[in-house]
Amino acid sequence: MNGFQLARPGRRWRPVIALIAIAVTCFPGLALASAPLQAVATVGMVGDVVAQVGGQCVEVTTLMGPGVDPHLYRASAGDLRVLQRAEVVFYAGHSLEGRLGEVLDRFGATRPVVAVSEEAVPPSLLLEAEAPYAVDPHVWMDVSLWTRTVDVVRDALAEIQPACAQEFELRAAAYKEQLAALDRWIQDSVASLPRERRVLVTAHDAFHYYGRAYGLEVVAIQGISTEDEAGLADIRAVTDLVVQRGVPAIFVESSINPRNIEAVQAAAKDRGSPVSIGGELFSDALGHAGTWQGTYIGMLVHNTRAIVEGLGGKPAPWPLELADWVKAWGLEDL
Ligand SMILES: [Zn+2]
Repeated sequence: MNGFQLARPGRRWRPVIALIAIAVTCFPGLALASAPLQAVATVGMVGDVVAQVGGQCVEVTTLMGPGVDPHLYRASAGDLRVLQRAEVVFYAGHSLEGRLGEVLDRFGATRPVVAVSEEAVPPSLLLEAEAPYAVDPHVWMDVSLWTRTVDVVRDALAEIQPACAQEFELRAAAYKEQLAALDRWIQDSVASLPRERRVLVTAHDAFHYYGRAYGLEVVAIQGISTEDEAGLADIRAVTDLVVQRGVPAIFVESSINPRNIEAVQAAAKDRGSPVSIGGELFSDALGHAGTWQGTYIGMLVHNTRAIVEGLGGKPAPWPLELADWVKAWGLEDL
């Protein structure tokens, strides 16, 4: 298949090879630990799914770190070198990655390049969006939708690294159980808000899947693309809504300049309707690696806590299925 044949080992090497064979059979982790599959992901939300499913069998490099806006991202020379070394590449798709998506297409000729969101979510479940987007790419904001990417990642990894297929299967199943619990926890937490308080005002249009899944009306100053500047008219329209509805808190995003949200806050104050900034939400990038906000579960937990507390509700108690995650990050008393 690879165009070369294995030479028969000389007599001198046969005992060594036999020992390796025994070691690999008895301790499969031994052989795999030495050469994990090299995977590259674009955004942290995708990279975390690959890491959760891949475990020790896969080494994941994520191109976009905390605070990076994928809509505006351009691949660097360093990214191209990382992509050259990749054995498999995962990205979200639906044009989330902007120009980088075109670069990834080129790499698809020489290795598997998987658009997890495009493969996982049937078109009927996607939200429409304004041009140049055909659909809204922020699928990870609905945990039940994003959970579908776990199977896509599992199957892609198993095909490339069949020796780890069983491990991928087990890890994917365990992760999906956690995500199902996370989905219910968000439902329960948002349900603590009185109906008239379920209005989420953010900087850009990243939260429509969240709003649809968990029952919040979503209003953003900027559209999906962050490429165009928001105008005064956009700021005035959002301020009108905040004042008329008495919205108690509005939210900045980690990957977006906070000035538009701050302008709404100042304008609302001038009109006698003080509104607080309910914290920074992670919309298109995870938090820092090595912190709980640097995980996909943590992203949704952080956002939900900020939204629910900012709007005057109370987050639900931790579900049992997230006990290990909560303990691992020391969040029992959060
Ligand atoms: Zn976005």
